[in-house]
Amino acid sequence: MKSVVIEQPGELVLADRPLPAPAAGEVRVKVQFASICGSDVHIWHGHNPFAKYPRVIGHEFFGLIDAVGEGVDASRVGERVAVDPVVSCGHCYPCSIGRPNVCKELQVIGVHRDGGFSEFAVAPAKNAFRLPASIPDKLASMVEPFTIAANITAFLKPQPNDIALIYGAGPMGLTAIQVLKGVYGVEQVLVVDRLPERLALAQENGADRVFNNSDIPLAAQLEGVQPTLIIDAACHPSILAESAALASPAARIGLLGFSGEPCSITQQALTSKELSLFTSRLNSNRFPQVIEWMEKGLIQPEKLVTHYFPLAEIERAMTLFEKDPRTCCKVILHMG
Ligand SMILES: [Zn+2]
Ligand SMILES: [Zn+2]
Repeated sequence: MKSVVIEQPGELVLADRPLPAPAAGEVRVKVQFASICGSDVHIWHGHNPFAKYPRVIGHEFFGLIDAVGEGVDASRVGERVAVDPVVSCGHCYPCSIGRPNVCKELQVIGVHRDGGFSEFAVAPAKNAFRLPASIPDKLASMVEPFTIAANITAFLKPQPNDIALIYGAGPMGLTAIQVLKGVYGVEQVLVVDRLPERLALAQENGADRVFNNSDIPLAAQLEGVQPTLIIDAACHPSILAESAALASPAARIGLLGFSGEPCSITQQALTSKELSLFTSRLNSNRFPQVIEWMEKGLIQPEKLVTHYFPLAEIERAMTLFEKDPRTCCKVILHMG
């Protein structure tokens, strides 16, 4: 089978690999579509501290179950599934309280183990979620990116009367806009980014007001409006301090960034307004919820997708995704 392998940092190849057999408790998925994420690019360039090489990348993928391992119901063969990349031990403290995404032995498919930019991939059977017919194949790999927004908003508990501010109109910011508007009915969603094309996309995805902070600081443009809910989906270390300064008293701030650089903030900046800070990584069992949102039409994944490429053009697809954020948002690979 053909697989996208990062042999070592910087070295991406489309390799011929042996077809994997599903182990006990696993299914094998004949991958149909897979979407490219920033973390795939990071593994390619050697910027992901968890990646082990060589690695088949890809953690946002959809396909058909074509084989099952021992102990898995054989009637699942042929099922259309989206695969949750979070593989957890099931018995450590975070697993025991429903947070497998921070399992002490966390294995992320496409990061710690081989992923979905491949004609076939194996995964635990419980990670393969059956999709209703109403979710089309070509959008089914978009379940995973929406689980990121589902996870952070589960902590933030958005309310219709919130004034929400989202930093960054990339895929994470855009999915967050859709979830705040479509699922939670937040009346005011504000978005800040530095690219006008991305801000236009934010508006198409439901943002009520957009701000470009490339020349004028956001504080000067908000004219005293104090957001009550803030999501940092731009993930720059400077954003936490700015968020705390702009936030309403009693606001909630959600962080999605993974930078190793320190952020500088005083206790007073947080405590004087009694701000709540939430962090969110990957997703904890959010696939069923997002599948339901898509089925009900509460979210529109097609609004993020700008390109489709065949698997053979992986390097072109990854390069476009990385270098051209003005014309490119979600890029989906077609395996067939
Ligand atoms: Zn991702
Ligand atoms: Zn665990």
